[in-house]
Amino acid sequence: MLRKFFGYAGSKKIFGRKNIAVTATGASISRYSLSDIASTIGTFEFTFDEPPNTNPVNRPLGYNSANLSMIKKLSGLNLKTKAQMPLHCGNLEISHIHLLYNSLHEAEVDELLLMRVFPVGRGIQEYKNDIQREDYLRAIDQFRKLETRLNYPKVKIQCALKHLEQAEHSKNPCDLMQNSFGINPRGTLLLSAWATNSRGEALDDAFVLGNISETPLELLIQSKKAKEYSVKLDHNWGHCKIFSFLFSNPKSSEALFEKQDPLYI
Ligand code: SF4
Repeated sequence: MLRKFFGYAGSKKIFGRKNIAVTATGASISRYSLSDIASTIGTFEFTFDEPPNTNPVNRPLGYNSANLSMIKKLSGLNLKTKAQMPLHCGNLEISHIHLLYNSLHEAEVDELLLMRVFPVGRGIQEYKNDIQREDYLRAIDQFRKLETRLNYPKVKIQCALKHLEQAEHSKNPCDLMQNSFGINPRGTLLLSAWATNSRGEALDDAFVLGNISETPLELLIQSKKAKEYSVKLDHNWGHCKIFSFLFSNPKSSEALFEKQDPLYI
């Protein structure tokens, strides 16, 4: 997939290079030329969530180091770089936060997105609901202090964490169906790119709007189901609809709009 993508002029013409972001690992991207990467995409996103040179808790040995060394090679190539950091027990200690932020600063990474671990995709079996609200708030505060001192990477907070700081926003931080959708390789249009199960299929039919290889996108987003959903989007204001669904019983399309995200109840 990436092999066809890099160096392919069509994607740049359709979307504009600056609007194309790719998320990949250092190992998967190392087989492509730096010039092809830099001329095709505007933003390179990578996961970085445990300090290099420490014993990893959640990742294979060398995973984070490989990602970081790729980023160092990309710096200076007129490309925005963004680290995605799911917060978990392997990175919440203050000493780890300092190591992580300093590593990203030295690699001249532009942005750092602090995220939740989602009980979806390949991580569905390993998910533990063991991080408390205070843990997240403490970590966010530490990262922001480092940003104030060192200036970059700029710290951003993922939509599913924003409701922790209620006073900081005036519109619903869950922007499901408003700013983005997910499309899987079979053309299934999902309400969210996160709504996938361990086999890469939709997490549940409740998240499926149809298939863009069979029905035009504009018809799918105007469908009866999409219209019914759109009037309920603020029913559980601030809650992540994926967590609300997963922690509701029964799991139905109504569960998306329940106030059941465990971080906010
Ligand atoms: S459902 Fe969760 S991940 Fe999706 S937009 Fe809402 S808060 Fe973000």
